[in-house]
Amino acid sequence: MPIFEFKCSACGHEFEILVMKSDEKVNCPKCQSDKVEKKLSSFATQGLGSLDSLSSGSSGCGSSGGFS
Ligand SMILES: [Zn+2]
Repeated sequence: MPIFEFKCSACGHEFEILVMKSDEKVNCPKCQSDKVEKKLSSFATQGLGSLDSLSSGSSGCGSSGGFS
């Protein structure tokens, strides 16, 4: 079951909602505003993490570098 994290732009309330359809309307449970932004999924966060590990790896001594 996909659970997404949202943050309300109106009141700043953060909440998690089970979203069945990607185009489902989401309203803030606190102030009922529809100005909510979907936070990055764990999948997208993983992508950022790999980029970070790449840059930190290049600053190493390079003896274990994967490039041939
Ligand atoms: Zn709100």
